[in-house]
Amino acid sequence: MRIVVLAGGIGGARFLRGLKQAVGPEGEITVIGNTGDDIHLFGLKVCPDLDTVMYTLGGGIHEEQGWGRADESFSIKAEMKEYGVGPEWFGLGDRDFATHIVRTQMLGAGYPLSAVTEALCARWQPGVRLLPMSDDRVETHVVTDVDGERKAVHFQEYWVKHHALIPAHAIVPVGAETAKPAPGVLEALAEADVILFPPSNPVVSVGTILAVPGIRRAVAQSAAPVIGLSPIIGGAPVRGMADKVLEAVGVETTAAAVAKRYGSDLIDGWLVDEADEASVAEVEAAGIPCRAVPLWMTDVDASAAMARAALDFAEAVRKP
Ligand code: GDP
Ligand code: CA
Repeated sequence: MRIVVLAGGIGGARFLRGLKQAVGPEGEITVIGNTGDDIHLFGLKVCPDLDTVMYTLGGGIHEEQGWGRADESFSIKAEMKEYGVGPEWFGLGDRDFATHIVRTQMLGAGYPLSAVTEALCARWQPGVRLLPMSDDRVETHVVTDVDGERKAVHFQEYWVKHHALIPAHAIVPVGAETAKPAPGVLEALAEADVILFPPSNPVVSVGTILAVPGIRRAVAQSAAPVIGLSPIIGGAPVRGMADKVLEAVGVETTAAAVAKRYGSDLIDGWLVDEADEASVAEVEAAGIPCRAVPLWMTDVDASAAMARAALDFAEAVRKP
């Protein structure tokens, strides 16, 4: 079974770990990863979401934190600080630096990001095919007010430096309109048996992937059932600040509102948490079949059960 997953960072990666367990070696999983969070720091190209997926599935992730490397140290960052070179607000550890150095070196030698990602994955063996959504540079920016001035800042500055506490007036995936899907992306979607939206951020993770021209249409036109899992439970994000970016795009922070934002032309089924059972009717009224199941990824078994629920649902809504 060929499964394609549109993934952000932590929510996507934890779900993928469960999906791998649920399908075992027969499952052929292709991950289309968000690269809108990518940023250049210290002259290096950093791809936070691709790395979170790669480290999580490859066994190198800092488990409690959910991003970055396990057993990390921060000597380079401390040395940079002594030179007065920042930014200090982005937590790059020594082990992590090695990944970004290899990536930047390969990009500098002319390899596209998709080839670089494949090379990095040769070490980590994530057990999925990890494709960046695009080889072209796309950077999510947030239109905000800084010191009384309206300006656009990089998503990481908004999210990590300001903890999403400054107003977000608009979210702009800069470069997306001219970006092309990376090699293999449209093919994977066309050949998929099932397409899944994990409980990733609907605006700045899945939304950014869908903003790359051609991807949304490939998902919508695919013969495969498309099933999404809500990252919102009981009117709040399970983790992080998704409510802030939802508000910026005028979407209520509820499982039902997120389903409706994707819409019935895109998704064929939507899973909400049991706590949101009451919203099933609202989602179905919008033409999207909906079920309530436990959606807390407390451990790998719980994530695997969610993946099985999504795959069962896919079979139930599959068009003959
Ligand atoms: P990021 O790029 O690291 O922010 O990660 P993603 O975009 O992939 O996922 C972030 C989303 O995952 C957040 O909106 C969270 O609400 C959601 N999330 C995290 N843990 C869980 C969980 O256990 N269950 C559900 N349903 N959503 C979760
Ligand atoms: Ca992210």
